[in-house]
Amino acid sequence: MKFRSVRIQMIQPCHAHCAWCSTHKKNPVFKRLVQNSESQDFHAFYREVVELHQPEEVFVSGGEPLLSDDLPELLWAMADGPRRVHVFCSYQFSRKVMERISQLELPDNVVINHTAIYFEPERWRALTGFPFEVYRDNVRTAIAMPVKKRFKFIVNHSRLHEEIARFQKLVEPDDSCEISLKIMNDQGNGMVVDVMQASEERVFGRMSKLDQVLSDAGWSTKRPRTSIDRVAQVIQTGDVTQCPYREDPLELRLAFYRGGDGKSVLKYRYCPYFPPDFGHKFHLGCDSISKLAKNFTKGPFREHCGKCRLLHYDASRVAETAV
Ligand code: SF4
Repeated sequence: MKFRSVRIQMIQPCHAHCAWCSTHKKNPVFKRLVQNSESQDFHAFYREVVELHQPEEVFVSGGEPLLSDDLPELLWAMADGPRRVHVFCSYQFSRKVMERISQLELPDNVVINHTAIYFEPERWRALTGFPFEVYRDNVRTAIAMPVKKRFKFIVNHSRLHEEIARFQKLVEPDDSCEISLKIMNDQGNGMVVDVMQASEERVFGRMSKLDQVLSDAGWSTKRPRTSIDRVAQVIQTGDVTQCPYREDPLELRLAFYRGGDGKSVLKYRYCPYFPPDFGHKFHLGCDSISKLAKNFTKGPFREHCGKCRLLHYDASRVAETAV
């Protein structure tokens, strides 16, 4: 059994302090692990997982993966494997650092991913504390790089049209860029249930008009994948037994859990919507890599689907859902 996509978390501090993200809390331990080279054990394990499962897509988050000295080697090791390797980036570092990043030689299957939040100076500064002008210039520098870029926009706020227009005007995306739309930014320990519920109507309304939103911006659309339609069905009906992540090995998500104290431990999950307090543990150097696939087949993770975050779009469903 092989996973169709694999997500990994690079051990590398992120200098950004975005209000919606709590990953920077891991910075001190990430820093220690980089200094004593234990980060390399995690990165070597990710490589093994990708070699074993040969996923179609790999998603590389952090920390800030583009600042990791281990990243180029890892990406080149995956150059002939996955169809796409998505590297997440905050674009929150100095122009000088961005200039250095822009000189990196990256394989053709790499896509640099970024979620734009309003793309408006005042709100950006309030949410990140980072100068908008430097961020904007870094995005422009990235657009000029000979690598694919993906920019994501979140559809749960009422100014999506303005945000897209501002983005187009300020950074002039070209054919090396693609756009994707997220229902919402569900980081911040994964819940933000109040926002999900408050924006439920807007999200569904806008989801049904997505083609219009995209064609207004002059962008072409791709047909949604079947698995996305099936996930939407879980939101609409509350029936988790129809969830594609339970049936097929669509995704293996590996994230840092613990390290620097003689133990190197990852947390792993099989879908993006699990309750944030749940995840299996994988001990590097102790557990067999086959455990990752065995636990998917055995299936105890499905017992937690009653607390699936998708169900929070309608609070009554959390209580009534039988798994
Ligand atoms: S928590 Fe369960 S129902 Fe929800 S997306 Fe994950 S596997 Fe599917």
